[in-house]
Amino acid sequence: MSELALRAQKLDADDELAEVRGRFVLDEVVYLDGNSLGALPAAVPGRVADVVRRQWGELRIRSWDESGWWTAPERIGDRIAPLVGAAAGQIVVGDSTSVNVFKALVGAVRLAGGPSGGSSADSVAGSSAGSAAGSVVGSVVGSSAGRDEIVVDATTFPTDGYIAESAARMTGCTLRPVTPDEVPGVLSERTAAVLLNHVDYRTGRLHDLPSLTAAVHAAGAVAVWDLCHSAGALPVGLDEHGVDLAVGCTYKYLNGGPGAPAYLYVRSDLQDRFDSPLPGWNSHAEPFGMRSAYEPAAGALRGRVGTPDILSMLALEAALDVWDGVSIEAVRAKSLALTDFFLECVAAYAPAGRVESVTPAAHAERGSQVALRCDDAGDVMKRLIERGVVGDFRHPDVLRFGFTPLYVGFSEVERAARVLGEILAAG
Ligand SMILES: *Cc1c(COP(=O)(O)O)cnc(C)c1O
Repeated sequence: MSELALRAQKLDADDELAEVRGRFVLDEVVYLDGNSLGALPAAVPGRVADVVRRQWGELRIRSWDESGWWTAPERIGDRIAPLVGAAAGQIVVGDSTSVNVFKALVGAVRLAGGPSGGSSADSVAGSSAGSAAGSVVGSVVGSSAGRDEIVVDATTFPTDGYIAESAARMTGCTLRPVTPDEVPGVLSERTAAVLLNHVDYRTGRLHDLPSLTAAVHAAGAVAVWDLCHSAGALPVGLDEHGVDLAVGCTYKYLNGGPGAPAYLYVRSDLQDRFDSPLPGWNSHAEPFGMRSAYEPAAGALRGRVGTPDILSMLALEAALDVWDGVSIEAVRAKSLALTDFFLECVAAYAPAGRVESVTPAAHAERGSQVALRCDDAGDVMKRLIERGVVGDFRHPDVLRFGFTPLYVGFSEVERAARVLGEILAAG
């Protein structure tokens, strides 16, 4: 056995999260694609069967009350909250990430008093006087005139960019796509909202959420963070860092299942002024009043729209049980150890010059994935999958490996790198 394989065994023996793997349905495959679709938690099939057979099949409509269906979006939001550093009452689950990016970004422009904010510009000025006791770190200055730009990460996941472009057009803003490094330099008294990714989906680069949020606030603008590739993999600290609005998906590191609903975070002191561009009967103050005039509910559930997708939502709720007794700090420590070890094994096993990491070496800038640039990445990933190592290929030349600390072990990491080295040497 090689020195690296022996070290892997020792690291696995000392791993305080090793037993969590037993909470998932897994096999001999080395699964390094949990940043695309998390593995199935073992408790989910039984729970979903109960939801379908008993709650739907037997209780039928009574389940909206008796099985807690109606309140599931807020209840499950409160389960996600500690994982992203949020106090209860600020997260609502539902709809896709794409839809929540839209709600958050248009809502952000309205909070900032953007051009077509209309009466909301006045209400910002009016209500901010009344809520002057709000926290200083997270306060939104919200000038009532001249904020007509949305800044977006130019390298973002496509859907975020498409929606930002449409949100800009709808709100009468100009879109400024820039790299995250350029963001502080383009902020001005014209900036209404800034949409950023906590971790880049392609390179795995972790951006500096505290300092970028502070820069956005210093310019008087509203910060919207997309947590798709960080929630469940590392501490986010939404409340601590005064983030205004955030969105994220639940089928990556939160293991909620294919198409599991996403979530929207609206900081508590902004909820009164959050004016959703998708007001639906589920976010009405009195949903069963069936009134023709819309009146938003109080709190985070203002982010709801229509009837929640209960089957997916309750599968997600069951999936979140795997976090019982698991701290996100322990997850982060193991994540860094896994990615460090993978990089070390790749350096040892891959022929020199065949792959190059595009993921930052510095821990402070690394998410929970490693992206390797490789000329024939598409072919290489196909062969890896044939040999039981599953990552994914991102056009045109990136091999992407996600490390979910809840179920990936060090011996698997060593095996993945060894198989990769063999494929690269043969090709
Ligand atoms: C995964 C991901 C999405 C997915 O959006 P859906 O609406 O769930 O398809 C959006 N944005 C980012 C940054 C992502 O990583």
